[in-house]
Amino acid sequence: MRSDPADFELVAPGNLSAVVTLLAEQPGRWLPIAGGTDVMVQYATGKLSARKLVSLWNLPELRRIEASDNEISIGAGCTYTDLRRHEVVDREFPLLARAARWTGGIANQNRGTLGGNIVNASPAADSLPALLVYEAELILVSARGERRVRYLNFHTDYKQTLLAADELIRAVCLPRRLAGYLSYSRKVGARNAQAISKVCVAALGRVAGDVIEDVRIGAGSVAPVPMRLQKTEQLLKGKTIDAALLQGARETAMGEVRPIDDIRSTVRYRAAVVGNLVAEFLREMTEGRQERMGQVLAKWNGLSREESALEILSCCGSTAWSRQLAAGRPFHDELSLITASDEIWNRLPPQDWLEALSKHPRIGERKAPQAASAQSAAWSAQEQQGATAAGEAIQSALAEANREYEQRFGRVFIVCATAKSASEMLEILRRRLRNDDATELREAVEEQRKITNLRLNKWLQR
Ligand SMILES: Cc1cc2nc3c(=O)[nH]c(=O)nc-3n(C[C@H](O)[C@H](O)[C@H](O)COP(=O)(O)OP(=O)(O)OC[C@H]3O[C@@H](n4cnc5c(N)ncnc54)[C@H](O)[C@@H]3O)c2cc1C
Repeated sequence: MRSDPADFELVAPGNLSAVVTLLAEQPGRWLPIAGGTDVMVQYATGKLSARKLVSLWNLPELRRIEASDNEISIGAGCTYTDLRRHEVVDREFPLLARAARWTGGIANQNRGTLGGNIVNASPAADSLPALLVYEAELILVSARGERRVRYLNFHTDYKQTLLAADELIRAVCLPRRLAGYLSYSRKVGARNAQAISKVCVAALGRVAGDVIEDVRIGAGSVAPVPMRLQKTEQLLKGKTIDAALLQGARETAMGEVRPIDDIRSTVRYRAAVVGNLVAEFLREMTEGRQERMGQVLAKWNGLSREESALEILSCCGSTAWSRQLAAGRPFHDELSLITASDEIWNRLPPQDWLEALSKHPRIGERKAPQAASAQSAAWSAQEQQGATAAGEAIQSALAEANREYEQRFGRVFIVCATAKSASEMLEILRRRLRNDDATELREAVEEQRKITNLRLNKWLQR
């Protein structure tokens, strides 16, 4: 049934504070309308139950995008065009920029907002899987003040959210720490633009060596709410990508989604497509990695010898190692780079080994030595996650054993900490305290070699 315009009231107070005051005075009576691309469809089809509408369109407080060191804050009233055109969004959050390009046509992208997409809460909405994998947080505002909630918990059931009747979304915050991950997204529909997804997937991954260090997969149109495929993520973490893993991931993804039959698709089709997309993501992760490494190496091969030595110094910490590796260019793949690095490292005299060892923080301590670069300190923090997350008893046992080690050998204890728990590190440290000087130096040098290889791998995937 068509709606009669005379039954509706639309006000536009023009600033955020006036809007939240209005919502507080009559909670639930006023429906916010931003771009109107969902609300007006409901109006046109006679399904809009609200009669009082308050406009959020173009409120300056909701239209800003601000980037700080740690996160980007996107005003909920930003349109898809705003997102597409923003340099940081485009560069660091490609999954969101891509979703913005896929949403409707140009007219829709000029009007439709990110906040509207979230609150409309369609399980098929295109930007929502991206927000899930970027670990977005929402800033909700009302006359009572602001609160920050994890987007992961925002949709409580089909079209149900945590938003109170007097609240608005003010901003969507995305941490910048995932910017270096490989990204993958696919929208499967009748076509990409101007069509609602039958299934959409957004995913991020980081691979170290051949091992999946971290992975995040979000999917839309496969459950009453957009969902993270957490079982599939768990299966993948720490594993090497091969045919068996691909098959296992495909089956796990198919098993954990909860799609429905509707006019656009069927349960069987949707589950099968999710499985295929997860497998495609994993294949791309392996291939994309090779391509990216090739680009990093090509750029590095073109630098001056001094610049190139400086650029890789953080991977190892030895000046002689970095100079000799820079002199050995060009390298065209990871294997030849790592082989050359190992040869150079093993040939170095002890004072160069000791220079590299001196650049590490103590195991269990966040503070890196002054001589370490910012990049080296950041890598050390990542590598030592297992130690810094440990309980107080293990931390103090580590500190005690570290002290003993330093008294005995005159330098900081080094172990390749990646993927090791604090108690594993403590066990290794206690065992190595029993080494004689020469054996211990050999072990420390070998651990540094492993650390260097992992860091070279990370550097190649920036
Ligand atoms: C032709 C067409 C094509 C489309 N194609 C796609 C597509 O490909 N992919 C896709 O995902 N979507 C698509 N959509 C849906 C729509 O464009 C998006 O969901 C859009 O993001 C909605 O934003 P809006 O500002 O227009 O929301 P509105 O219609 O103004 O509002 C939607 C809901 O959000 C609430 N709301 C809006 N902003 C806030 C806020 N800041 N705080 C609290 N509540 C708020 C409103 O009260 C309302 O309940 C399409 C729509 C049309 C008409």
